Amino acid sequence: MSDRPAIVRTVAALRRQVAAWRAAGERVAMVPTMGALHEGHLSLVRLGLTRADHVVASIFVNPAQFAPHEDFDAYPRGEGRDAQLLGEAGCALIFAPDVAVMYPDGFSTRVLVDGVSGPLEGEKRPQFFGGVATVVAKLLNQCGPDVALFGEKDYQQLLVIRRMARDLDLPVEIIGGPTVREADGLAMSSRNAYLSADERAVAAVLPAVMAEAVEALRDGAPAANVEPAAIERLAAAGFGPIDYVQAHDGETMERLGPGPVGPGARVFVAAWLGKTRLIDNWAV
Ligand code: AMP
Repeated sequence: MSDRPAIVRTVAALRRQVAAWRAAGERVAMVPTMGALHEGHLSLVRLGLTRADHVVASIFVNPAQFAPHEDFDAYPRGEGRDAQLLGEAGCALIFAPDVAVMYPDGFSTRVLVDGVSGPLEGEKRPQFFGGVATVVAKLLNQCGPDVALFGEKDYQQLLVIRRMARDLDLPVEIIGGPTVREADGLAMSSRNAYLSADERAVAAVLPAVMAEAVEALRDGAPAANVEPAAIERLAAAGFGPIDYVQAHDGETMERLGPGPVGPGARVFVAAWLGKTRLIDNWAV
């Protein structure tokens, strides 16, 4: 399938198409994105097609999850290319609303998820998960999919969305897809486009350092020793500031401490390379 999917920009048009599929007894999957698509996004579309008859992708650069000093204006946008790639991956419909459709005048509601939102991104980007949970709650209500797919690349976000869907009884199954990486291990990200050629070469150090950290944790080294060693190696390679390298429980997001980490541990990193902030995580 390589036809360009139809693009709808209103909730009414989105619901009309989804209702027609439902009336035919067909299942619908949703893949929310901010566009600037890469293989990571497309893998979620393909995963969606194994769970549903049709995949709806949304493309919306959500102002509510960016702080004023962050990269909302610079965030890469290219709807034509995105539509082409989505069509090739088998996506049937694109929902690409304007900001005024998502946040009309008088908009006053925010969805805040306690607990799993707390550490890591929650500390470094205090506005972030409120913005994400609010927009994802809206997108899921607008589309009404049977399943919705999110990448483990943004693992904490996946947990926040799962928690929200459960807590709000949203009638949708939340599915996580594995992180898609470049050949040298760097996680694919729309923000990798910000890296210069030199920075892109240095960026490969990040997955290498983290692979060593995972290895050390598996061998029983305590997180309290592994974390500073990884930070030091990243700093020596030219990363900075390094927001965190931390091991947390992969379900509760509880910080893991001085002893050896147990099953279900994950190690999380966020580090700047020039003007680009890279985040990633690995199961231990
Ligand atoms: P974004 O457009 O960056 O907001 O991402 C949209 C969705 O794609 C989110 O669920 C991300 O977790 C997921 N995603 C982004 N990068 C990757 C990747 N490299 N591998 C798998 N999923 C990804």
